[in-house]
Amino acid sequence: MSALLRTIVIVGGGFSGTVVAANLLRRPPTGPTRLVLIERGPRVGRGVAYAERPHPYLLNVPAARMSASSALPGQFVQFVKRRIPNVTPEDFLPRPLYGDYLEEVLLAAQLSAPANIRLEIMHADVTGVRRIERHLPLQVELGNGRCLTADDVVLALGNPPPATLPQAKSIVDHPAYIADPASAHLAFTRNQQVLVIGTSLTMADVVNAAAVEQQRTPTIHAISRHGLVPPRQTPFRPDAFKGDGNALLLAAATSLRGLTSTVRLLAAEAEKMGGDWREAVTFVRHMAPTIWQRMPARDRQRFVRHLRAPWDVHRHRLPPAVLQKIDSLRAAERLHIHAGHLIRFESRGEQIEVTWRPRHARATTSLVVDRVLNCTGPDYAIARSPDPLWRNLLQCGLCVADPLGLGLRTGPKGAVIDADGWPGPHLFYVGPMLRADHWEATAVGELRVHAEQLANVLATERT
Ligand SMILES: Cc1cc2nc3c(=O)[nH]c(=O)nc-3n(C[C@H](O)[C@H](O)[C@H](O)COP(=O)(O)OP(=O)(O)OC[C@H]3O[C@@H](n4cnc5c(N)ncnc54)[C@H](O)[C@@H]3O)c2cc1C
Repeated sequence: MSALLRTIVIVGGGFSGTVVAANLLRRPPTGPTRLVLIERGPRVGRGVAYAERPHPYLLNVPAARMSASSALPGQFVQFVKRRIPNVTPEDFLPRPLYGDYLEEVLLAAQLSAPANIRLEIMHADVTGVRRIERHLPLQVELGNGRCLTADDVVLALGNPPPATLPQAKSIVDHPAYIADPASAHLAFTRNQQVLVIGTSLTMADVVNAAAVEQQRTPTIHAISRHGLVPPRQTPFRPDAFKGDGNALLLAAATSLRGLTSTVRLLAAEAEKMGGDWREAVTFVRHMAPTIWQRMPARDRQRFVRHLRAPWDVHRHRLPPAVLQKIDSLRAAERLHIHAGHLIRFESRGEQIEVTWRPRHARATTSLVVDRVLNCTGPDYAIARSPDPLWRNLLQCGLCVADPLGLGLRTGPKGAVIDADGWPGPHLFYVGPMLRADHWEATAVGELRVHAEQLANVLATERT
C-alpha cells in the first residue's frame, strides 16, 4: 500500500495540525500522498484558543507576531487588512478572527497544492493508534468504529483540560463547580460570589467574560499561591536585544542561581539602554530550548518547583485593554486577588465553602461562593489523563510521559519516544507538550517553527 499511495494522518485540526497540513500541501512528498486531517470539533483551525465564543476574547499577542508562517511574518496582518483596513500590527485582535485566518491559510494551500497530494478533512474523535509491528503502517482508530491505515501519524492534540486539585476532589460533581471554563457556558448575576482558582491568563479570560455587562458582573475572588497577575504587553521590540547575552546565558545556565541572576541582569541592562525588560525575556525565551536541553534532570525539577511561577508570570502577558478591565474591577472591589494555599472545599447546599491560608498568615480564611472555576491551566501530566487516546498510547507503549508531568518525550524532529526509549518510526507529535523537551513551546511563535520542521521531515526524509 505504502509503495503506491502514502497516507499521512494528522490527529487534531487546531493551530499545529492545520499548519503542518498547510506546509505539507505547499511542499508535499514526491510520491502520491493522501493527507487526512482529523478534527473532533466542527471546524479546523480553531482549537480551544481560536474558537467562536459568546464573549470576544482577544489574542494575547499583537497581530504582528501571530503569522502562521515564519517566512512570511506579515501574513496575519495582511489577512486582517482585507477585513479591517485600519488595523495596525500592534493591535490585539479577536481570537476567532485568527481562526478564520488559519482556515484561509489551509484553503489557500489546498487550492494551490500540486496534483500528487490530496487533503481530506474528517470530523471524528480519534480514540486509539496501534502499531502491529515496528515498521508496519499504523492503525488509527476512530470513535465511530472506523479504522484508518496510516504510513505516518502526527499527533496535534493541543492543550488538555486542567487537573482537579486534590482539595477540590470532594466537589467535582457539585453543580456550582466548573472543572474546565473553556468548555462551559459562563453566565453570572451581579449578586453572585465567584471563586476563580488561578490568577493567570485563564483567570483574565473568565474575568473579562464575567464583566461584559456591568449589571451582571459578580464579585470575583481569584486565588493562587503567589497571587501574581500577568503584566501588560507593551509595544517592545522582540528582536531588540543585542550584545553578548547569548554566551552569558549559556555560561550562567550551569546553575539555576546563575541563570536567575543573569536573566535579571539582562532585563536591567535592557531597561538601562532605554528598552523594556520584555525584550530580555523574549531573548531568553528564544534560548530556552538550548538551556533546557542542557539542564540536568535535578535542576529541571527544581526549576519547575521554584522558578516556573516567576518565569510564567513574566513570560505570559495581557493585552492592555484586558489588564485595564482587571485593574478597574479591582479598584471597584468587584475583583479580589488573593495569595494563599487552598485548604479545602465543602458543599453548602447550592453553594461551596472554600477555606484557604493566606500567604505568610497562620490563620485560615473561609468564604461561601456560588461558583468555583478551575482556571489552573492545562494539565500536561498525560500519565493521569482520562483522555482515551492518551491512555491508549501509553498502554501500547507508543509514547512515554515526561517524568516532570510536562507532556510526552520526543526526539529531535518531533518523533515520539516509545516505551523502549526509541523515537518510534512514523509517529510524531507537535504542540504545547513539546515543552517536556523544549520548555518554551506553547505560543504561535514557537509552534509554527515546529510545525514547519515536521512538515519538512515528512516531505523529505520519510519519502
Ligand atoms: C485560550 C488560549 C488562548 C491562547 N492565545 C494565544 C495567543 O493569543 N497567542 C499565541 O501565540 N498563543 C496563544 N495560545 C497558545 C496556543 O496553545 C497555541 O496558539 C495553539 O492554539 C496550540 O495549537 P494546538 O494545535 O497545539 O492546539 P489546539 O489549537 O487546541 O488544537 C488541538 C485540536 O485537536 C483536536 N483534538 C484533540 N484530541 C483529538 C482527538 N482525540 N481526535 C480528534 N481531534 C482531537 C481538538 O479538538 C483541537 O481542535 C492560546 C492558548 C489558549 C488555550
